[in-house]
Amino acid sequence: MAKIAEHGFKESVDLMFDQAAATLDLPPGLGDQIKANNNVYQVRFFVKFRDNYRIFTGWRAVHSEHRLPVKGGIRYAPSVDQQDVEALAALMSYKCAIVDVPFGGSKGGLNIDPRDYNEFELERITRRFAQELIKKEYISPSVNVPAPDMGTGTREMAWIADTYRMLHPHDINAIACVTGKPVSQGGIDGRVEATGRGVFYALQEFFRHPEDVRDAGLEGGLEGKRFIVQGLGNVGFHAVKFLQELEGARITGIAERDGAILSEKGFDVESVAAYIREHGGVRDYPDAVYIEDGRAALEEECDILIPAALEGQITLENAPRLKTKLIAEAANGPVTFEANEYLRDQGVIILPDAFLNAGGVTVSYFEWIKNLSHIRFGRLDRRHEEIRGQNVIEALESITGKRLPDEFRRKLTYGSNELDLVRSGLDDTMRTGYQNIREIYRTRDDVVDLRTAAFVMAIEKISSAYLEMGL
Ligand code: NAD
Repeated sequence: MAKIAEHGFKESVDLMFDQAAATLDLPPGLGDQIKANNNVYQVRFFVKFRDNYRIFTGWRAVHSEHRLPVKGGIRYAPSVDQQDVEALAALMSYKCAIVDVPFGGSKGGLNIDPRDYNEFELERITRRFAQELIKKEYISPSVNVPAPDMGTGTREMAWIADTYRMLHPHDINAIACVTGKPVSQGGIDGRVEATGRGVFYALQEFFRHPEDVRDAGLEGGLEGKRFIVQGLGNVGFHAVKFLQELEGARITGIAERDGAILSEKGFDVESVAAYIREHGGVRDYPDAVYIEDGRAALEEECDILIPAALEGQITLENAPRLKTKLIAEAANGPVTFEANEYLRDQGVIILPDAFLNAGGVTVSYFEWIKNLSHIRFGRLDRRHEEIRGQNVIEALESITGKRLPDEFRRKLTYGSNELDLVRSGLDDTMRTGYQNIREIYRTRDDVVDLRTAAFVMAIEKISSAYLEMGL
């Protein structure tokens, strides 16, 4: 095959947008307005460590502001640049629209390898970065609300929230300036696992549609299906953990930074994660075949491939060697525009990032609402639910004259806690999201795949928000 120049991450996202927009009858110029980032702030700041001044460069991009606040994670990575941040911000706008989360899109990035710094240094860097963004209102509960992404987690979010509170001590909603915080700092139960759990719920929903499963060349349910995952971080780990624990899936390949491990038997992902924490990688994991080129593991045979690390991992170069039937894009932008076209022609089904990894922002939305309402979900109604269940039991027992078995009594008197409610809202969001995009895909002839369907849905919602506003 002649070598075709492939597009980068941002261009790929824009081309995917164009492909979907071409199927719609948008007023001239509106598509371009939606597609472009509205503004990007680049900041350079320094932090003094002992006698050394270290300079850092970061960005926060704001894509579409048809809804406020805008929302999107902050990534710490040595490779991150402005183009990536803009592509990720655009995906955030589309993602929120697809799953009906009433936010616009934004994203932040700091060009840093967090592994080069200790905790004390990272806290100083994070607080300084946050301060710069807060000064320009690129962090604020009502305008722009970050969350974790690659290289950041609950710890960094707690530092950002505290920095905001110090600068705005009289803002009663200060804590809503960022989501993904530790539960003890105003976070919500179930946020850490949310993106991976959302991937899991979406796959469950996919397998509820036998026609879609057949189209992928698969059959049956998730049980026993062979998965390969790239990146056993927050998203990848939780996705495969729930697939393994709750559906009996087999995780036959795990690719990490230092290589990949393979086992036809399947891995216990908790144990691999513990091994990575202890040894810093997967090399020498017992009873596994190790390959040094981790990316080559994507080409091993499996039913479902979950790229959950970086963008641009599946290109025209390796796409022809993939031996999977379904790609579940847990990461943002793992497949280039050209590879997407190639794989579609080969009949590989792709569950697109803009839908599939929306579980994180969905639960971030719940956390933001919890922060603004200043009350934990379930606090008012949990005992009330229990009493209603007790009343039902008493009524049933008095009518039948028999005592209900203990198992039914327990189920009927169970009052939902915050985690139950978060999981219920997330499951519903992912099911409905998939049903909506498959409906567009199946009913419109010019919509060529699920990704185009997802973009069509996003563009329709964002464009009607602009048109209704009269802009
Ligand atoms: P993370 O930092 O927790 O995990 C990333 C994992 O990938 C790490 O285990 C890392 O070692 C591994 N990795 C890095 N480079 C690799 C390589 N070249 N090959 C194989 N593995 C590699 O990050 P995360 O939060 O899990 O994010 C992963 C992806 O999911 C990103 O694309 C991110 O934008 C996307 N995402 C994250 C969230 C979230 O809530 N955290 C939400 C939506 C989308």
